[in-house]
This record gives sequence, C-alpha cells and structure tokens, in this order.
Amino acid sequence: MRAPVSLPLTGGCFCGTIRYQVSAPLGPGRCCHCSRCRKAFSGAGSAYAQVVPGSFSWLSGEAHLTQYASSPGWGLAFCRRCGTTLCGLHQGRVHGVTLGSLDGDPGVTIAMHLFVDSRAPWDVIGGEAPQYPAFPPAGALPGGEA
Ligand SMILES: [Zn+2]
Ligand SMILES: [Zn+2]
Repeated sequence: MRAPVSLPLTGGCFCGTIRYQVSAPLGPGRCCHCSRCRKAFSGAGSAYAQVVPGSFSWLSGEAHLTQYASSPGWGLAFCRRCGTTLCGLHQGRVHGVTLGSLDGDPGVTIAMHLFVDSRAPWDVIGGEAPQYPAFPPAGALPGGEA
C-alpha cells in the first residue's frame, strides 16, 4: 500500500500564476490516448483524475484562467499566460485535475489506459495498468462517466 498523502493536494500552472488545492483524495488516475486528448494535453494523452465534488478550490490567479469547450457540457481550463491545462470541467464545474499540474505525489497512479487502439504511432505504453481499446468497461470509473 502507498503511504497516505497529506491533504490538501496542491497544484498549479507552469508560470506559477494559477494555484489550486484539492481537499479530498482523487479518484483513480487514467490516461486516455485518443487523438483529442493528445491535442488537449499536448502529449501521449491525458493524465487525469476526478475530484470529489466540492473538494476543489482556486488559490490564486483565477483571473488568468481561460477555458475551451471540448464537447457539449465538457471543457478544459488552462492558464492564458503559459498554457498549462489544469482541470476538466463538466457543466461549468471542476470535474477533475490533470496529474501533470499537481505538486509532488498526489496519491494516485495511472490505473487504466483508455483508447489505446488510437494511440500515437510513437506512443509506447508501459506499466501494469489495464489497457482498454476504447472506453473502459462499465464501473471502471466513478460516476459511470468516460
Ligand atoms: Zn501559467
Ligand atoms: Zn481521450
């Protein structure tokens, strides 16, 4: 077992303008390798975990946030100065955080890889976490959302 992490978790953007905290443990980490996530996260895919509703708060720099609506009801929030993607939004509320924007050990690891059938030609996926061709099976994610 991993040592319990100390709460709140904290995170922020590359330029340091925007800071946030999360007061409850994160949901399971996941990495989605689809073409949309590669663009949105500028990498092999997303590295992301859901937050418990109400546990997320901005500490500083909120005026420098901007957002992009990626699909109806869903969006991403990022720093307009440095471009770091900080969190996912659902119906205007923070749904989860990007693992890369967190400080230190957030207490989760990547627990599943999604859309591995559409990964980039250069993407080599390692580790023991299950790999799903597309969406995860029902029940693999909290709240049934994908
Ligand atoms: Zn920034
Ligand atoms: Zn994706």
